[in-house]
Amino acid sequence: DPIQAMEFAQSKGQARKEGRTNVKFADVAGLDATVSDLRDVVEFLKNPKRYKALSAKPPKGVLLEGDPGTGKTLIAKAIAGEAGVPFYQMSGSEFVEAIVGVGAARVRDLFKRARAQKEPCIIFVDEIDALGTRRAEAGMQTNEEREQTLNQLLSEMDGFTPDIGVVFVAATNRADLLDAALTRPGRFDRKIRILRPDTQGRYEILKVHARNRPLAEDVDLMQLARDLPGLSGAELANILNESALEVVRRDGDQITAADIYNAIDRVLQGVRRPPLPDRLPVKRAFAVHEVGKGLVATVLRQQSGRLEAVERVSMVPRGRDWTRTIFLRGEDEQYTMTTRARLLERLRVVVAGRAAEEVVLGDATTYSISDLRDGARLAQKIVANYGLSDEGITIYAPPTATLGFMRKSFEVSVDNIDADLFGKGIKGGMWQPSDESLHRLRTAMYGLLGAAYEEVTAILEAHREALDAATDAILEKESLTGAELEEFIRLHPPRELPRGHA
Ligand code: ADP
Repeated sequence: DPIQAMEFAQSKGQARKEGRTNVKFADVAGLDATVSDLRDVVEFLKNPKRYKALSAKPPKGVLLEGDPGTGKTLIAKAIAGEAGVPFYQMSGSEFVEAIVGVGAARVRDLFKRARAQKEPCIIFVDEIDALGTRRAEAGMQTNEEREQTLNQLLSEMDGFTPDIGVVFVAATNRADLLDAALTRPGRFDRKIRILRPDTQGRYEILKVHARNRPLAEDVDLMQLARDLPGLSGAELANILNESALEVVRRDGDQITAADIYNAIDRVLQGVRRPPLPDRLPVKRAFAVHEVGKGLVATVLRQQSGRLEAVERVSMVPRGRDWTRTIFLRGEDEQYTMTTRARLLERLRVVVAGRAAEEVVLGDATTYSISDLRDGARLAQKIVANYGLSDEGITIYAPPTATLGFMRKSFEVSVDNIDADLFGKGIKGGMWQPSDESLHRLRTAMYGLLGAAYEEVTAILEAHREALDAATDAILEKESLTGAELEEFIRLHPPRELPRGHA
């Protein structure tokens, strides 16, 4: 498969790289403020002696923080490319090896190679959190190896002789997890947060990646940027690359809007697989499941306007999923803040597929297990991490901590947890809630799930006619748009308004 071969080559290309790079700041789109912040690093690399002559404090370490694919590696390369200096790259995960001493030796080796050249360079370490994770988070497995590697890195960082002009750049998507020793003042004098691009940023990124690709008249990059909120630079780049592959596949010579929309589905939902044969009874169950979800989402949006609109419900199998409800992503998805009302509506949508199976078929499939897991996870977050259960503020855990509710004993990292709330305290850096707290958590969480399920069942029963009609339609045409769902609801109004939904 040529596509797979290409993807493989790409992912191998992301492994260790060393040497000169042609990447320039012009290749970095939508991050003007960041780029101009880093111009003096380029100046320094070009002429470290000047800094020395003027006793100007040279930049030493740059920490780039941001989600995967937001351009951290690209920026690091662009600094090297602009300054015309070599670029040494390694990934934090390459340092963390089972054999004690290997990681530390690799760090030593990397810095040695860089210094041996006796010329300015960039040393870039991606995923630095892999070796510099706060000890409490690493928990039980505070391994000697990690510690040694980290210490080696720290001593290398401290040992820079600034006049050679070596700049250390590290990247992480979890700066909050970094060991304090790494983030201490003097180690990274620049900490730069890279956000996912906004509409204008996405437009700039699309423009950069459309540069050498012939676009058909019907392609509107600005509209595309508006349609793809929340996507990272890497995802956008990938979409344009996939679009070009679509053109190759159909033996065309220009990228059309249709190519791009096919590519979006490939990138965001995975590769299209053949549809389920019609003779399989389970196909109808899948249709009921997915239409139920899309319908509930549409009804809730009509009632409160809180949720994103349904773009499409699809029975085209892609990746690992047989069916999907695709939402128009709201601009605010990139912000982490949301409200209880909205989370509770989301919870309803998550369990709606399962509820629809019960309402229509009087039976349920194993298909909904992943929804139920998502629902449990979301309910758990609402209760434990956000303190938003309806009992008021019950439990407080760090927003990022995951609690393994499904297992009997589970652990949360200790930071920020109100230690008096639970009984047993901390053991080996892990949180052990008392049986009573665990019981309270579970009760609140399954209470939310149960309530969501009940509400959704009522909504679906009231909209049973629309549900049946839309199910028939999707089995016919493979997918339904959000507008079509609204039309079904209009043509088949709810039998009676469910309680609490006046
Ligand atoms: P990170 O290191 O943050 O995970 P990368 O720098 O490896 O992300 O980004 C992967 C690819 O995505 C880049 O090589 C580039 O093609 C594209 N990309 C990401 N961000 C941008 C951006 N701001 N401008 C242009 N291209 C970008």
